[in-house]
Amino acid sequence: MDIMMTAEKQKEGPSWDVLFPHAVSFDQPGYNYTSMGVGGKIDRIMCPRSASELGDMVSLLRTHHIPYTVVGNWTNLIVTDKGFRGALIWTKNLDRVWAERDKNHAQKITAQAGALLMELVGLTMRENLTGLEFCGGIPGTVGGAVRMNAGAYGHSVSESIVAVTLMDGEGRTRAWEREDLFFEYRNVHLSPGHLIVDATFQVFPAAQGQVEAKVSKIMADRMAKHPLNYKNAGSIFKNPKNHAPAGHLIEEAGLKGYAVGDAAISEKHGNFIINRGGASAADILALIEHVQETIFLRYGILLEPEIKVIGEQ
Ligand SMILES: Cc1cc2nc3c(=O)[nH]c(=O)nc-3n(C[C@H](O)[C@H](O)[C@H](O)COP(=O)(O)OP(=O)(O)OC[C@H]3O[C@@H](n4cnc5c(N)ncnc54)[C@H](O)[C@@H]3O)c2cc1C
Repeated sequence: MDIMMTAEKQKEGPSWDVLFPHAVSFDQPGYNYTSMGVGGKIDRIMCPRSASELGDMVSLLRTHHIPYTVVGNWTNLIVTDKGFRGALIWTKNLDRVWAERDKNHAQKITAQAGALLMELVGLTMRENLTGLEFCGGIPGTVGGAVRMNAGAYGHSVSESIVAVTLMDGEGRTRAWEREDLFFEYRNVHLSPGHLIVDATFQVFPAAQGQVEAKVSKIMADRMAKHPLNYKNAGSIFKNPKNHAPAGHLIEEAGLKGYAVGDAAISEKHGNFIINRGGASAADILALIEHVQETIFLRYGILLEPEIKVIGEQ
């Protein structure tokens, strides 16, 4: 059955293997990819090896009316149990990172969308460059971090961004200055069909060892507070404005440990849902709904999920 499905999809539309040899895989189980360990079958996963191949893929998918979305390190999303019809463009091979000084001798780091934030953090530790320490321990890519305006310890990536290269739905790229982009808490506004190709960050010289010490402290704090021995997707809910953080509200409402199937609110951190082993996406979504209802009835606050849900409902 699976072989037939694969053969069918290879026949549909363009000759994927000819156009993008070894860059497309079919009928992949989402649970193998998401950090939550959930998700049904994904029709196609496409891994461009360059920005120009990314452009070719995007324009081809559009020409053939195949729905697509882009993913980074899969750490802030879940795929539904029914899976994803269309194509997920996975940026893992767009992972170049480079540092440069501009004409004013300011230090900048540019990274392609698929580079891991931790890769950037590692570079700043080696080169004693301050500004991105708060990203220590965030397991996403640069593309995912820009899209989510990822942040921690009172900072978010938008504070350090100088420019972002975006690709439109026709596969054309354009560099955008920080001032022309609209960032907000855990979000950046992108026109439909736009995706992040690379981003440039401003960093500053620091004393030898200072950056490393700060990152080590942050990593230790995360180890102590987060349930890292279980599959998870980081914070499930955004913190509500002008209220206690979501995790505090969830804890105060007595929801720590509450479970639907194998999806449970972590005993360690109220804003983490953990997969105790066999959770489905439906379990996680039902748990999210239960938390939202409970918190709304108790505090009149509607918690907004931070994680993204993709796939057939
Ligand atoms: C243990 C743990 C700790 C975490 N701690 C934090 C934290 O402290 N702070 C925080 O903010 N987050 C945290 N997260 C969540 C997550 O790591 C971040 O949101 C991260 O930035 C997501 O990056 P990603 O590459 O995994 O994105 P994905 O999960 O792959 O995608 C997330 C969203 O971004 C979109 N996207 C990805 N790449 C692109 C692109 N190139 N162009 C356009 N859209 C794109 C996707 O379509 C999706 O909508 C944590 C997660 C875990 C598992």
